[in-house]
Amino acid sequence: MKPRLRFAPSPTGYVHIGGLRTALYNYLYAKQNNGEYLLRIEDTDQTRLVEDAVEGIIRSLSWAGVVHDEGPVLDANGHITQTGDCGPYIQSQRLEIYKKHALELVEKDHAYYCFCSKERLDAVREQQKSEGLTPKYDGHCKHLTKEEVAEKLSSGQDHVIRLKLPENRIIEFNDAIKGTVTVNTNDLDDQVLMKTDGFPTYHMAVVVDDHYMGITHVVRGDEWLISTPKHVFTYEAFGWNAPEFVHLPVILSQSKKKLSKREGSVAVEDFRSKGYLPEALINYVALVGWSPEDGQEILSMNEMIEKFSFDRVSKSGGVFDLDKLNWMNNHYIKSADLDRLTELSKGYLIEAGFTTESTYEADYNWLKRMIEVLRERFNKLEDIKEYYAFFTRKDVELEDDEASEIIKLEHVPEMMQIFADKVTAAEVLNADAVKAILKEIQKETGHKGKNLFMPVRVAITGQVHGPDIAIVIELLGKELTKERIGYCLKNLC
Ligand code: GLU
Repeated sequence: MKPRLRFAPSPTGYVHIGGLRTALYNYLYAKQNNGEYLLRIEDTDQTRLVEDAVEGIIRSLSWAGVVHDEGPVLDANGHITQTGDCGPYIQSQRLEIYKKHALELVEKDHAYYCFCSKERLDAVREQQKSEGLTPKYDGHCKHLTKEEVAEKLSSGQDHVIRLKLPENRIIEFNDAIKGTVTVNTNDLDDQVLMKTDGFPTYHMAVVVDDHYMGITHVVRGDEWLISTPKHVFTYEAFGWNAPEFVHLPVILSQSKKKLSKREGSVAVEDFRSKGYLPEALINYVALVGWSPEDGQEILSMNEMIEKFSFDRVSKSGGVFDLDKLNWMNNHYIKSADLDRLTELSKGYLIEAGFTTESTYEADYNWLKRMIEVLRERFNKLEDIKEYYAFFTRKDVELEDDEASEIIKLEHVPEMMQIFADKVTAAEVLNADAVKAILKEIQKETGHKGKNLFMPVRVAITGQVHGPDIAIVIELLGKELTKERIGYCLKNLC
């Protein structure tokens, strides 16, 4: 049987980096085994809906390259449509299916109507807590007669439908990561399946949908592990086979807590907007809690598809390490196509003031050259914004003591004057021309190596280390280069 897996986010605002990893693992396993990967939107909690969240989820996942075979997609106008034979893939569009199935469970005596008010439920909970018990529904409505139920229903009383768990029964299932999980039903609650508002709960919808969508493997965060016994029982109550379960440990922050917004970016969209490349983010995220047998770290999507296995997902939560992500993003930036990088950087270039929407085309070659010389320094593309002053200011600020020592060397004023004269005389001042000038100066003055290059770099950038000085000078252009040398001779030497 071809595997079918799904990612089933709730549209509550954004795709968390942990969600991206869940989606990715589902995708990798499906693709490795010639199966299908679905996206399903779990919007049964109407109180938590966020406008445009579904569009956001679709955009984030497709940007990351985790592309589903079935589910909601955006058409050319950005509107949601759906593809696949098991739809709709948005739970709020499947209410009739859940209702029908909840009634089927009532019919089979695996579920019952509950008319308890919120006040009563709260009181029961408080009482249980004060007795040191784990709060759970006390079964008040479990034994109502058919007549009592019919009467309450016809008088229009608010109600929910609850799962009727048998007493003192062991429920057991296997989880690919956690192993065998065993729970006694006495420790479980009679889960609400249908809410007063006519919407199913997650627990109802997830079972019905996974069944009808032919899901073979449920791969999700391990916060759902405690709910799984109830799901297993629900499958049984319907007479359906349960899928395989794979519960992934959460992604932890550096302080070993669940990774949350409080400790920095967690939304895929945030990483995108800072200029992380999708191939870097996806590669990094795959390795938070999984590694291939051969220890390879830089992996393309195809390599991940080939090497992925649930066996090698660690049992404890992986730690999200921003430094490592930065290192990886830098690695991908260094080898990415330059035109692509320039296009991706357009927003930051405009924001920083390097160019404008209307001059971008004309500035393009210059911008691309700048990215070429700087990119090995970028952890993320937005870092380019920090270089605005570096390329535009007329004066020079010495970065540290080492820079001031170099600029104060005795031979510097004369040598820099020669340099300035040659710059003035040059017809074109590209990197090759700068190199030729430096060679000439070496011949004419005898200064070479550090004594030649360091003062030139410091005089023009204020820094001892930095990008290729010949290209920097080419990018600065004649006027600005002269301007800076002049400033340096006058104020710093
Ligand atoms: N809607 C659930 C969530 O957002 C999905 C859990 C599952 O995959 O079953 O976490």
